[in-house]
Amino acid sequence: MRSFTILGVLLAAAGLQAQQAPEAWARYRVWAHNDAEIQKLSDSDFGLFSDFVGPVTDIVVKSSQLAELKSLGLEYAFVNLLEDPRDWAGKTIWSLDYRTAYMRYSDILAQYEAWRNANPKMISRQQIGTSVQNRPIWMYRLHGAISSDGSTPRFSVVFFAGIHAREWISEPVVMYLLDNLVQKSKTSPAIRQLLNSCSIYFIPVLNPDGYEYTWTNDRYWRKNRRSNGGGSYGVDLNRNFSKGFGGGGSSGNTNSDTYRGPSAFSEPETRALRDAVLAIPRVRGLIDFHSYAQIVLWPWGYTGSAPPTASELDRVGAIMQNAILGSHGVHYDEGQCYWVLYQASGVSMDWSYDLGVPYSYSIELRDTGQYGFELPANQIIPTQEEIYAAVEQFLFQLQSKY
Ligand SMILES: [Zn+2]
Repeated sequence: MRSFTILGVLLAAAGLQAQQAPEAWARYRVWAHNDAEIQKLSDSDFGLFSDFVGPVTDIVVKSSQLAELKSLGLEYAFVNLLEDPRDWAGKTIWSLDYRTAYMRYSDILAQYEAWRNANPKMISRQQIGTSVQNRPIWMYRLHGAISSDGSTPRFSVVFFAGIHAREWISEPVVMYLLDNLVQKSKTSPAIRQLLNSCSIYFIPVLNPDGYEYTWTNDRYWRKNRRSNGGGSYGVDLNRNFSKGFGGGGSSGNTNSDTYRGPSAFSEPETRALRDAVLAIPRVRGLIDFHSYAQIVLWPWGYTGSAPPTASELDRVGAIMQNAILGSHGVHYDEGQCYWVLYQASGVSMDWSYDLGVPYSYSIELRDTGQYGFELPANQIIPTQEEIYAAVEQFLFQLQSKY
């Protein structure tokens, strides 16, 4: 840590001298030693380079913000220089193959539509809401022959991607879950039987405005695109749910990356998820996909108290963890959000668990920070495969229960 700190001071000095030059962007690591320090960082205007604020948090610092960073009074060190995220858009490798490159929102939807058109008896869709900027929010349903003939499935599961805009690996992972379940159902009796016992719902992108903004304006954008007034934009949708709303690990500062919004479900995107889940019969599982950290998380995030079914959440979480490890040998941590990650209040899985969805999880995908949100496209396929392995086990667990 010492060498990092010295380097940080040198680069900080260089940054200050270079203020007349084009602004430099850098990733800094901040160590917070107690709840008050962590909340101070959560309430700051600094953009996060982590998916959460905790004892060790990476942030995005422009050279013009170095004095502000120092004034926080927290221990910090330079990590590496970053490209200006506003220059990112033109350099993006664009593709229509969701396994080898990242895709724009319209192309993601076009791929889902191609799957729906190819499998009209198994896949249907509905619009569950409209974003702040009037983009449709879609949800796809996958079901086998029994549930498509009108009988009620034994249980339902909801998977969704992109609640945080910049976490691009979440979208192709959720796409692969649908695609591979459909493909495997053609050859695997076990998968066919699974799909005949449940309905599986997929939300391709819950925060389409933020997602598109990461392509066109700012690669590090996290929140939705609500105007908060005074030139401030965005609510952290994963701090906008009702359970634990307003607690630690969320902020009332509109400029904060963890700004929770004026009230629970103030945002059309979180209301879309809420209303969709409430309308689906027998929802027994929900997984909210994020990056980056490589962790299988379960409730609660808002408190360190154990949830009533902690041992069962831990059991199924460990099954997923082992399936991931067995796929490509990559280790993910596993555990209660509050203890493994840190306090986070108003998160989706706390809300769904409190609602009565017993298997509510959030999975932080690759990596652990080397590339962060800019996970290289050649890691899309292995990430898809390891998460499919975990989710297949997850579904079989639910099938054996319901
Ligand atoms: Zn996230």
